[in-house]
Order: sequence, then structure tokens, then C-alpha cells
Amino acid sequence: MEIRYNEKLKKLPPYLFIEIDRKKKAAIDKGADIISLGVGDPDMPTPEHIIESLRESVKNPANHQYPFGAGLISFRRAVSRWYKERFNVGLNAENEVCALIGSKEGIGHIHLAFVNPGDIVLIPEPGYPVYNTGTIFTDGVPYFMPLLEKNKYLPDLDAIPDDVLKKAKIIFVNYPNNPTAATAPKEFYVKLIEFAKKNNIIVAADAAYSEIYYGEKPVSFLEVEGAKDVGVEFHSLSKTYNMTGWRIGWVCGNKDIVAAITKVKDNYDSGVFQAVQEAAITALTSSQQCVEDARKIYKERRDALVDGLGKLGWDVKYPPASFYVWAKVPKGYKSSDVVGKLLDEAAIVCTPGNGMGASGEGYVRFALTVSVSRIKEALERISKIKW
Ligand SMILES: *Cc1c(COP(=O)(O)O)cnc(C)c1O
Repeated sequence: MEIRYNEKLKKLPPYLFIEIDRKKKAAIDKGADIISLGVGDPDMPTPEHIIESLRESVKNPANHQYPFGAGLISFRRAVSRWYKERFNVGLNAENEVCALIGSKEGIGHIHLAFVNPGDIVLIPEPGYPVYNTGTIFTDGVPYFMPLLEKNKYLPDLDAIPDDVLKKAKIIFVNYPNNPTAATAPKEFYVKLIEFAKKNNIIVAADAAYSEIYYGEKPVSFLEVEGAKDVGVEFHSLSKTYNMTGWRIGWVCGNKDIVAAITKVKDNYDSGVFQAVQEAAITALTSSQQCVEDARKIYKERRDALVDGLGKLGWDVKYPPASFYVWAKVPKGYKSSDVVGKLLDEAAIVCTPGNGMGASGEGYVRFALTVSVSRIKEALERISKIKW
């Protein structure tokens, strides 16, 4: 039998990390000691008190059944309390929060609730690929908003043409941003809410990195007046508590949008394992010292890498948040040249900026997911490369 894929699957761009991973594996096979600064997956383990909580919860037979629905009310209340504490925003646990199987799941499925064939989805680029994946799977049309240094990596909402706005259904924004590490000021969200109201476009704010910051705490989109009228915010426990493998996050905000996402989920999956939800409650309601400790570690790594690259003549700034360093490549090179050179000549893996969108050309992304001593080793190797 000939297996024929549908057009949507064929339309998906090749997965960025596959080629990088192939080259990385080939280098490892040849005996190279690879330093991986490519994928944004924390290297540190989940804190012990969260693991212990799972150990206990998993023993309870009530947790062995289908979870269903928007998540345990106790989980949604924990989210609501955490939100109040962190952002001073009130959330009704009954209808303004829905648990997700990782925020990626909700980010990839929100389109199913709102996008009809031909509808436009406004997507930042460079950016997280899932905003576009959901668009393709619903026969939507992506309109990419470049994130440029001269605009502080904020999308230029005024530059979006009227005919695009007429057909636009959802706008994605992501701050602290992956990959540029930029944060958004409150004024941006004020403008965004006005824009969303005027054009009747749903705001989907991706706040996966809200707790990874080095100075000022990033603001939430929902902190700004009127936000709940127009949108939702996606949160993740993955980066905050080193829980990428656990698959839990949530969406919160406008109750009608939350209800629509919940409806899609009711028909697709049967919820997040309740023992994982209970461990997440422990994460959100216990001391946040573990998050403070993680920030301190990322800051040491950030300073080591940015200081070191700066000394080697690279044009690179301290990121205010996230665990990425968005570095301009040496003059005269393209992103892919530099990724290739770093791999071939220094056994270092990083991500080409243009792999996450055309405007990322001229940059590479380093993830701060190795120790300071490995970062120093990486810098030592980079210092020996002839440009
Ligand atoms: C890591 C990441 C997510 C998703 O994380 P989950 O593990 O699915 O919760 C979402 N958005 C961005 C920008 C990310 O980098």
C-alpha cells in the first residue's frame, strides 16, 4: 500500500532540530565531546519536594482514573492563588483556568476553537514553531510579524495591512521571548489590547518564561486593564520548575476562550494525570526558593557566556529574561555558517536564528543549559576558531 499524507502534514516546515541533531549525533559517533547549547530544555532536575509529592499522589487509586475536564479544582485554585501573588491578578478558578498537557498542547490546539479555513493568524518570527503548526492544521493562513532589534523585538502592530487585519482571528505574542530573550513593557500590552478590541482579534500570550528573569520581574499581559476581554495567557511549569518531561501547564484569562479550549480538549484528550496535577499544586504553593536558586544559576551562566563572547569580539547583550542568549554572528557570516563552524571546529551545538524565522538571520541562539565550567570550555574552544 502507498501511504499518502494529507496536504497539511506535507506543508509543515522541516523540524528545525532534526538536521542539527543529525550532525550532532554524527559528531558524537566520531568521538567529539559535544557541548550542547541547542535545545531549550533545562539540565537541572525537578526539585525534590515536587518529586516527593508525585510519589505520594501516585499511590492514591482516585488518581488512576481519567482526569477529564479543565483540571482538578484544587489545581485551578492553586493557579489562581499563584497568579494573585505573582501578578496581583484575580482569576476565577471555576471558569478562567484550564489545565494543559504542557502549554505546547494548548498553544497548538487553540486554533481548533477559533480558526476557519482561510482565517489569518498573526505570528511573531523568529518564534516558537507551534503557533504556525496549529495554523497549518486548521487550514489557517499565517501572517508573520518580524521581531527586529530596532523595535526592541516587539511586533510592529501598525505595519499590519488592513486586509490582513480583517481576516485575522488570533495574535500570538511571547514575552519573555524565545528566541530573542526580550521582555515586553506594560505599554506594549496596553497598545495590544486596544489593537485586539478594535480589530476583534483574540490575544494568545505565551508566558512560558515569565519566571526566568534577572532584574525586573516580567509583567503579565493579564495585568493590563481590559486584557481579560480580549485574550488568554499560556503558562508552563516546564521551565520554572525544571518539569519539561512532566507535561503540565495551563491557560487562563477570558472565560469564553478558556471554555472553547476546554471543549476542544474534552474531545481530544482526557486531561492531565491527576498525580501530576497534585505535584504541580505542590510546586505552585510551596516555597519558591527553588525558582530563585535556578535564576541564580542561569544568571551565572548568562554572565559567563555573554562576558566571554564579548571579550572575543561578539556583539551580544545580557538578556533580561529567559535562558537564551541571542547573539549576533561575526560580520560577513550567515547564521548557518556559524552554526556549522561551531559544530565542526568547536563541537558546540547552537540554534541558527533563521531556523526560527527569516528575521533571525544573522543571529544564533545559545541555551544556558550547561554548567559554567562547560560554558568556559565552550568559550575556550570558540577563542581558537579562525574567522
Ligand atoms: C518551552 C516553551 C513552551 C512550552 O512548554 P511546555 O513544556 O509545553 O509547557 C511554550 N512556549 C515557548 C516559547 C517555549 O519555549
